[in-house]
Amino acid sequence: DELVSQIAAGEVVERPASVVRELVDNALDAGASQITVKLMGGGVRQILVEDDGCGIPVSELPLALLRHATSKIRSLDDLESVATMGFRGEALAAIASVSEAAIASRTAEDAHAHRLDARSGELTPAARSIGTSVEVRELFFSTPARRKFLKTDATELAHCLESVRRHALARPDVGFSVWHEGKLVEQLRPGSLQQRMQDVLGEAFTDTSREVDLQIGPMRVHGRTGLPDAARSRSDWQYCYVNGRHVRDKLISHGIRSAYEDVLHGSRQPTYVLFIEIAPERVDVNVHPTKIEVRFRDSREVHQAVRKAVESALALSRA
Ligand code: ADP
Ligand code: MG
Repeated sequence: DELVSQIAAGEVVERPASVVRELVDNALDAGASQITVKLMGGGVRQILVEDDGCGIPVSELPLALLRHATSKIRSLDDLESVATMGFRGEALAAIASVSEAAIASRTAEDAHAHRLDARSGELTPAARSIGTSVEVRELFFSTPARRKFLKTDATELAHCLESVRRHALARPDVGFSVWHEGKLVEQLRPGSLQQRMQDVLGEAFTDTSREVDLQIGPMRVHGRTGLPDAARSRSDWQYCYVNGRHVRDKLISHGIRSAYEDVLHGSRQPTYVLFIEIAPERVDVNVHPTKIEVRFRDSREVHQAVRKAVESALALSRA
């Protein structure tokens, strides 16, 4: 089973940033309002993610590390959201199989926190407020071939920061801070989406972009799209979310590019932060273990909605 977990880990955990992505995901699922990420050595030596979410009852702590153990299926109703949100109970087990991991957690009912060491299975009393801390040390220590593929600490740190920023754009109501080697490297206070976009991408993006907001049938496309003539625009300002989850989708990026070509006849690289809200049954998120790819039931419908939404934002800005 250790081997199965390690193979699963290969799909979910590619580098420290993948661990950050999964741990922050879990913290958000737990209803956290403040998430702190503490990294050492670009996240290779240590990743600590602390949240003030609901916590894990001590009786369920060992379950959290088991493969296919998700607490996110509690009723038949939830089965639908499991299918749509892609809960599989795989991430923590996979991470623990390729690192030295420990979880400390405390719920509102607990008098104190408990800490579970993944490798030894030892459960000890711990001190922390309500919420969960997951500690992941020495990523890929037991799989040197994988560790060899990691880049410099600076590069791995940059990827970790990008993981946090992706989540942060989708959840402006949540505060995020990232520390590296004991230094605060990113602090995002909770606020409006506009403020969050400014904090993450800078005024260069918010000043040179236009609001997108279009409702087409059961679909809504909103966010901001950059003006192609913006001199300071950066080609990596491309963020797309489906039902709050960050995705990379060829169909969506094609829809955006088509809008740019239609309105501006330009070949500039589009920049955007776009949120697509769609009925959960019209999208399948379980295409890829990291849930970054999605499959739409009606891809034409999505392509057209995205194209129209971006087109009207760009056309308005020219008028
Ligand atoms: P999934 O998120 O798909 O359920 P994970 O392996 O990521 O699977 O997590 C397993 C389980 O551990 C979750 O279902 C949840 O019950 C618990 N868990 C993990 N992280 C946290 C957290 N930060 N706060 C509360 N519960 C958590
Ligand atoms: Mg998870």
